[in-house]
Amino acid sequence: MAKVAVVGLGAMGSRIAARLLDAGHEVAVWNRSAEKADPLVERGASRADSPAAAAREAEAVLVMVADPAALRTVTEGSDGVLTGARAGTTIIQMSTVGPGHVATLAASLPDGVELLDAPVLGSLTEVEAGTLRVFAAGEAALVERWKPLLSELGTVLHLGPVGAGAAAKLVANSALLSTLAALGEALALARRLGLSTEDSFEVLAATPLAMQAERRRDAFSSGEYPLRFELGLARKDADLITAAAEAAGVDAKVARAVADWFADAEQAGEGDSDYSAILRHIAEQA
Ligand code: NAP
Repeated sequence: MAKVAVVGLGAMGSRIAARLLDAGHEVAVWNRSAEKADPLVERGASRADSPAAAAREAEAVLVMVADPAALRTVTEGSDGVLTGARAGTTIIQMSTVGPGHVATLAASLPDGVELLDAPVLGSLTEVEAGTLRVFAAGEAALVERWKPLLSELGTVLHLGPVGAGAAAKLVANSALLSTLAALGEALALARRLGLSTEDSFEVLAATPLAMQAERRRDAFSSGEYPLRFELGLARKDADLITAAAEAAGVDAKVARAVADWFADAEQAGEGDSDYSAILRHIAEQA
């Protein structure tokens, strides 16, 4: 069993910590809003006073925070993970931040501290069930070393050097967010052309959008979008995708349109809703 720390106990990080505790690992936890650690401490985790303190005793520090700014604060900040990590510690970066920000972190590692770039695909149910996809990238020996731990969370795909995991996550979310925006526009069109919601979904079931249409049908029909992944975070991902495409010389016209939709929905007050509420926003606005 490993000595691990989990830094960032939001929707994903708290469930990751709980799963690792249940698997018998020794888990230290830290979160900016300290009260989010309470249920995990009750389940046997130890509470750290800072990311540095969490890292000090750990063999691996899993970082799962909102965005690039949060990653920077909890790693490079004055009491950050990099201050506490010792030679031999592995930082397992799981937040969705894109390859550029992972490269920045890789460039600031103290001697002997290693980095695994390991963002995840899947949401709350998948963490709880241990069925995430973990996009693991880094030295092959390091991926092998931490594969048993990461396998507690889901299927580990080894993708290449540091940066490849973050890239894979943006590719996956580019497909997901574009599909949702396309579904929203199809539903908007169907509504304006006079089709009922029920008929619209029957038609969409026979198209390449069938899988997402089926998955989102109840939410769209009822107007209830249970929160799993905040729309504001999806907006952040849409921006990371367009920035990465631009940096790589890809003229990503669809991705830019998708990012516009998510920014528009956030400005309209949907930032705290589940990201699938983009369907409601597009269907009402388009
Ligand atoms: P969340 O519930 O909003 O949690 C965000 C976490 O980041 C919280 O622990 C928050 O601390 C922390 N944080 C934000 N700003 C910070 C700052 N400046 N300094 C320190 N900590 C800060 O988000 P989540 O859904 O767990 O997502 C976490 C990451 O996983 C994101 O990168 C997201 O894109 C990615 N992801 C999410 C899902 C999903 O389905 N939810 C799936 C795959 C990947 P406080 O509690 O103090 O606010």
